[in-house]
Amino acid sequence: MSDGLDRYPAADACAEPGRQMFFAHAGRFFARWPRFAPVPKGTPCSVCGALDVPLWLNDSKLAVCLAQQTITRKRRARASAAEPLVVGGGPGKTNLSGGHFAVVGPNRALLVTNLVPDAAIPPGLEVRYGGPGSIMKAKMDLLLSPPPAPFVAVAFQKSAGHPIRITTDPSRIVLNGNGACVLDRPYLDAVLRVLRRLDAKAARDMLHLRQRLAGGADYKTDKERERDQEALLRLRAGNAVTAADFRRLPPPGSPEARFVLEALGLAETPGAADANDNEGTTTC
Ligand SMILES: [Zn+2]
Repeated sequence: MSDGLDRYPAADACAEPGRQMFFAHAGRFFARWPRFAPVPKGTPCSVCGALDVPLWLNDSKLAVCLAQQTITRKRRARASAAEPLVVGGGPGKTNLSGGHFAVVGPNRALLVTNLVPDAAIPPGLEVRYGGPGSIMKAKMDLLLSPPPAPFVAVAFQKSAGHPIRITTDPSRIVLNGNGACVLDRPYLDAVLRVLRRLDAKAARDMLHLRQRLAGGADYKTDKERERDQEALLRLRAGNAVTAADFRRLPPPGSPEARFVLEALGLAETPGAADANDNEGTTTC
């Protein structure tokens, strides 16, 4: 690269190890040295709190590090998957913080994005065009065959100031984003085995019955409860779902249910899980 970024150490890109990891293996190929002078030293990064890395003001006039600039800077995106992935950039309307996805670490680097890179993409970085269903597929791939740790998994969403935590144990994957959660793989594998036997309507019905019969319904009469129990028996018999399978299902609306429904392509509003704006980390 001509702007000196190739000599820029990732450790100076951000004080947060997860953002550094993203920057080192993927972000730097979508980064360019900001045109403006850095803000004076002593100002903390509004995302990672760093005082000792170069910081620039973003569009909201907040001081942020280069790793975060890589996520929030607006630039050009490819119009379709047919447009070749070549170095370009230039002004545009797209940034990483709206419906892009990353699984990035020293052992595997995958970025699902339409953004045009600022530097040649190395062989170790896979860039997939973010067409319909691509993020859902990438989430499912992550769940079924995660790379060796360490890595960061990020579902980039509108507000990009969330922490990026590193996964150190692939059986518990931290899925970073606004609705950050931990993917408990043994549990989700078991849930997926049950839901895969069902069609979309039956899967949703089963999750709703799970919640209602587990105390989520305010039954006015015994008849109402009996009706749900009969509906469940019919569903179970028609789909060979055992009572133990049923008890294992997460309640609808829970992070676990949202993740599995979306990963299976059964969500009523695809991407609904991404709309969640929780700041904390739940298990999903
Ligand atoms: Zn930072």
